[in-house]
Amino acid sequence: MNKNKQELLKQLPSVDSILKIYEKANENEEIDIHLKKAIRNTLDTVRHNILNEKLNNLPSDQQWLELIKEATIKERELSLRGVINGTGTILHTNLGRSVMSSVIKENLDEIAFGYSNLEYDLAKGTRGSRYSHIENILKELTGAEAALVVNNNAAAVLLALKSLVPNKEVIISRGELVEIGGSFRIPEVIKMGGGTLLEVGTTNKTHLKDYQEVITEETGALMKVHTSNYRIVGFSEEVSNSDLAKLAHQHDIPLINDAGSGILLNLTEYGLPYEPSVKDLISEGADIVTFSGDKLLGGPQAGLIVGKKKYVDMMKQNQLLRALRIDKLTLIALEATLRIYLDEESCFEKIPFLKMLSLSLDECKAKALELKTMLDSSIFNIELVNGQSEIGGGSYPERELPTYLLRITSEKYSPQDIERLLRTGKIPIIGRIQKDAFVLDVRTINNDEFIKVKEALMAIN
Ligand SMILES: *Cc1c(COP(=O)(O)O)cnc(C)c1O
Repeated sequence: MNKNKQELLKQLPSVDSILKIYEKANENEEIDIHLKKAIRNTLDTVRHNILNEKLNNLPSDQQWLELIKEATIKERELSLRGVINGTGTILHTNLGRSVMSSVIKENLDEIAFGYSNLEYDLAKGTRGSRYSHIENILKELTGAEAALVVNNNAAAVLLALKSLVPNKEVIISRGELVEIGGSFRIPEVIKMGGGTLLEVGTTNKTHLKDYQEVITEETGALMKVHTSNYRIVGFSEEVSNSDLAKLAHQHDIPLINDAGSGILLNLTEYGLPYEPSVKDLISEGADIVTFSGDKLLGGPQAGLIVGKKKYVDMMKQNQLLRALRIDKLTLIALEATLRIYLDEESCFEKIPFLKMLSLSLDECKAKALELKTMLDSSIFNIELVNGQSEIGGGSYPERELPTYLLRITSEKYSPQDIERLLRTGKIPIIGRIQKDAFVLDVRTINNDEFIKVKEALMAIN
């Protein structure tokens, strides 16, 4: 090792001496574990750089302070944290899918930080069931005889198959053998459930007789799956939920309907194509309907199961339920979300997904103008342009919602630079690059987040 390197390493200050410098310069700041860790990490980095000859001088006191300040900010950051979604995709799978209603805060405050009657029947003073807390409300909202809830819809489908058709055939249309994101593939799940998959029809057309022809003693269930994330258009035909239910009942077997996103309301008023609600599917005769809590419902991650009592009871008795058990935080959030649906009008105000979905183009424009006015900047040039938001979460593919975007450009930074700087800032802002410019869609940015967008832009200079 050359002399200079050795000399520098010897002169490296100790953790304590750097801490003293830091304390003197930041009198009001708390000395916590994160600060000490940041000092140790910074010392390691400097030592490493000296050894690799990337550094030929020790940092000055001022430079130490700057290095430590930056490292401390990083150390104090949580790994999982809030971001601002400027992509315009309302159910963004990578950004936490649905945003929960702030109404839930009160419920969490009241219940989550103390003991609760999670599994205790207060009227009888005996052991109760965690599922009892959502069963009545789900029955009311869907018209079903019984209800159950598990971790997510994938778990709900698995539990249904494991409980109702182990070792039997499950008949499903070739047009519905879908893969949902995260490699959830219907054929694999049927296999995992212990059933044998019997495909009928073709990719684009399946008729009632295709099902009729293959039903035998070996058939355990008919299954219908919502083709959430893609659509077969043109020369296509599928058998309706009600016709399949009739056929299933003639043979005394259940129809399991994986509704995917599962809606409780009619959203045609908002320019979306008609989709049967979970209530419609039940009234048309589906024996079990499963759907997600954090897609179109706009609640926490959960798998909701509604249907005939006889079949739901079979699921309640399955040992697998224990492994798919929903947590109390989720139950609190789910009950609170479902209660909002009791008053349909308030849904569009209180459930963020529905609120963002139902924003009109004029409302988007007003939001965009308000944000643009706040963002007056010398470095960035900001314009309003027309754009399209997406629903996301594998729901309503191809269906875009007209919106307004803020197109943010700069002489100094490329669109890629702007994207990176905003994504890696103190409050991460996620936008997208469109036609070689960085854009933010106001549909998915809440008005109370505007100030954070302003701060983030001002922090770049
Ligand atoms: C999204 C989806 C699932 C998986 O639901 P999760 O709640 O993400 O587990 C299953 N089936 C269909 C049809 C879906 O759209």
